Amino acid sequence: MRIIIVGAGLSGLMAAQSCVQAGHDVIVFDKGRSVGGRLATRRVGTAVLDHGAQFFTVREAAFQSHVDAWISAGVAREWCRGFGADDGHPRYVGANGMTSIAKHLAIGLDIRCSSLVFSMSRVESEWHITTDDGVVHVADRVILTAPLPQSFSLMFSAGLEMPADLRRIDYDRTLGLLVTLDSSQHQVPSPGGLQNPDEVFSFIGDNTAKGISESPALTFHANPAWSLQHFEDSTEDIHALLLAAAQPWLGSAVITESQVKKWRFATPQNLWPDACWVDETNTLVIAGDAFAGPRMEGAALSGLAAASAVCH
Ligand SMILES: Cc1cc2nc3c(=O)[nH]c(=O)nc-3n(C[C@H](O)[C@H](O)[C@H](O)COP(=O)(O)OP(=O)(O)OC[C@H]3O[C@@H](n4cnc5c(N)ncnc54)[C@H](O)[C@@H]3O)c2cc1C
Repeated sequence: MRIIIVGAGLSGLMAAQSCVQAGHDVIVFDKGRSVGGRLATRRVGTAVLDHGAQFFTVREAAFQSHVDAWISAGVAREWCRGFGADDGHPRYVGANGMTSIAKHLAIGLDIRCSSLVFSMSRVESEWHITTDDGVVHVADRVILTAPLPQSFSLMFSAGLEMPADLRRIDYDRTLGLLVTLDSSQHQVPSPGGLQNPDEVFSFIGDNTAKGISESPALTFHANPAWSLQHFEDSTEDIHALLLAAAQPWLGSAVITESQVKKWRFATPQNLWPDACWVDETNTLVIAGDAFAGPRMEGAALSGLAAASAVCH
């Protein structure tokens, strides 16, 4: 079968690998310049910073087997077993940042980055997928893995309905601050992560302690309430507010560079009860982290569920 997957985040990449292994012809489109979606790593000089997902956990054996394979391939490793107290549960990271995992999964796949899927339509038994260069791509099966409001607009372009409860799922926003520092004299203790340390931040990550950055670099994520309150402020105002909020955590280290990152669709606020949604023709599947859990594991398992739904 010809299968088109929209989105080269973790969900789309897992789905694509699984469909290719089942012998199908797969093309993945992503509007971003590179693969990974919310697995996002940025280089600033000699610093490397994860600015989307910070670490991941494993609850299901089905995901553990993939994580074990990533560890064997050298693209993921354990960071720690808790921030503060050791709770015995591994926190994993990408070996050179979270995008290491996405780049690994992308090997051997036909992925078209910088390609926005603009619209889709059902023409007899085929799907016609139009990208923003005006080209129409034909497929037998389609998997949509974009955040749900973005998948909804594609469904709308095809005159298709989405269940109302699916359409209502909204996402928390995240405002992030990336800083590089002149020294490691900051206030983020070993092993390099702070969860909900104050009224502004939900996570502060030390990318050097995490093992991905040669030079000192911190990632600050504002919590959902703070991010919602300030999301529409100007970038300059957000930057100034985040820098002021970050100051107590910097110790005697001085910022050498800083930038703001805005995530409109960071994490789903509620979940669909199944691991993916399949349309009545069994040829269109919607997947992503709003299905099997609002985290990397959920995105991965939903992608796998989508692949088995279309490849049956
Ligand atoms: C700030 C932040 C912190 C997080 N922290 C953690 C954490 O610590 N641990 C954890 O487990 N999870 C965390 N998460 C959540 C985790 O990143 C996600 O659950 C997971 O990466 C989602 O993967 P996905 O494939 O479902 O979606 P995405 O990664 O969003 O992939 C969807 C892709 O679809 C593409 N796309 C959208 N529309 C179109 C279109 N029309 N045409 C073409 N391409 C399109 C997008 O460019 C994107 O690449 C965090 C997320 C954020 C944003």
